[in-house]
Amino acid sequence: MKKDQILEKLKTVNYPGFNRDIVSFGMVKEIVIDRDIITIMLSFSSKNEEKKEQLIKSIIDTLNTDNFNINVKILEQTNSDVVDTTNKEANVQGNIKNIIAVASGKGGVGKSTIALNLAAALSSLGFKTGLLDLDIYGPSLPITMGVNKNPIVDENQKITPIEKNNMKLMSFGFISGNQAPVVWRGPLVAKMTEQFFKDVNWGELDYLILDLPPGTGDVQLTLSQKIPLDGAIIVTTPNDISLTDVRKGADMFKKVDTSLLGVIENMSYMNIKGEIPGKENQKIVINNKQIDVIDGKFNFNFNLFKSGGGLEESFRLNIPLLAEIPYSEDLMLSIDSGDPLVLSSPESDVGKIFINVAKKITK
Ligand code: ADP
Repeated sequence: MKKDQILEKLKTVNYPGFNRDIVSFGMVKEIVIDRDIITIMLSFSSKNEEKKEQLIKSIIDTLNTDNFNINVKILEQTNSDVVDTTNKEANVQGNIKNIIAVASGKGGVGKSTIALNLAAALSSLGFKTGLLDLDIYGPSLPITMGVNKNPIVDENQKITPIEKNNMKLMSFGFISGNQAPVVWRGPLVAKMTEQFFKDVNWGELDYLILDLPPGTGDVQLTLSQKIPLDGAIIVTTPNDISLTDVRKGADMFKKVDTSLLGVIENMSYMNIKGEIPGKENQKIVINNKQIDVIDGKFNFNFNLFKSGGGLEESFRLNIPLLAEIPYSEDLMLSIDSGDPLVLSSPESDVGKIFINVAKKITK
């Protein structure tokens, strides 16, 4: 085996808990081949022995060779990109009591919608709240909060977050004008993510809600290394495909010792209400389901997907199912209106669900 072949194989070994490989992380410092011994010098700073052993094992399994002895040598940490925790608090401007990440395995499950309404619910309960849209590849806050201006940068190069609806808001979209930096890779993303904490004047906050990009990428890695996360909420839809992805995300938070506060299942069902004037206390059949009509009115929940996925996942992770949010046209329309539903219609069924989740989080 030659050095470049070994390197190619190592590109398929992921850092434990992440979707990114150890070569692109810059952890592989040197490969030495001496007769039948391959030595791989690895920069790895985690004090987590289990993680270390797991990584060594997956390197040996991946190289899978009988002709060589494989020796993985862990180098003392220097300035590698992969640094576990030091003083994470020092990386955050201002005084933020709780930093909570809203995460999902894949896009389009309603994570941004939930992060926004959860932040707004916390704010409506009287907590000083900030919302940081870290979905740098597709920032949504400029649209969902109807914000179309650049934040002010002061003489010390610190950014003042934009205030709306009693919340402090920050999004890559406020700076970039929504030009998604799709070509950004690791170190640049890491730097940008850090700056959202270090260079933004958050001031005093009870809660800072983070809207993460989907999956387990560079933003998540930076957060787990540099930022004192107090908890994470996992958003999923009830169908299986999304759950497979969500599992990876949830497992990543567990591996980096961030406590999981709970699962929110979105688009769990659709509530259908209707009236059939004149039809009193009878049954009608919709989609092979018998529905009661009482005083000319009917009301039932229709499952859009196989149901129960969120509950199943909450059992697996041993964390609560915080809410089952129905498919709601009002919620969908509110996203383009610039005002979160929980503020415009706090008394609606969905509004109440968000307030309820916010109360659970504060507990
Ligand atoms: P993600 O952040 O996971 O990519 P978004 O929050 O951007 O997802 O939501 C994707 C789309 O689904 C948006 O158009 C949003 O308005 C819509 N949506 C999210 N949750 C619901 C819901 N419960 N009912 C109806 N539409 C929803």
